[in-house]
Amino acid sequence: MQCPYCDSQSSKVIDSRDTGGNVRRRRECSECERRFTTYETAEKLDIKIIKSDGTEEQFDENKIIEGVTRAAEKTSQWTKQRNLSGAKKKSGQRR
Ligand SMILES: [Zn+2]
Repeated sequence: MQCPYCDSQSSKVIDSRDTGGNVRRRRECSECERRFTTYETAEKLDIKIIKSDGTEEQFDENKIIEGVTRAAEKTSQWTKQRNLSGAKKKSGQRR
């Protein structure tokens, strides 16, 4: 990790905290000893959907949820459950 002050490539991690979805790291430069913070996140999975007409489309979780919701909207059971479960769960990834 490059130091933002002196461009040194050498630094050590002095603190690491998982903030839910990403990791915040407190680093200290080995050259100038100044401290800086970095955030580490996992790259999103590159999932492609191949549609029935052969075209590729980026996987979109919201689009799936939307499609299922629309398909099931007419059943009263679904509406009831959806009201009970409330807002969509936060999609944090733990490692
Ligand atoms: Zn430095």
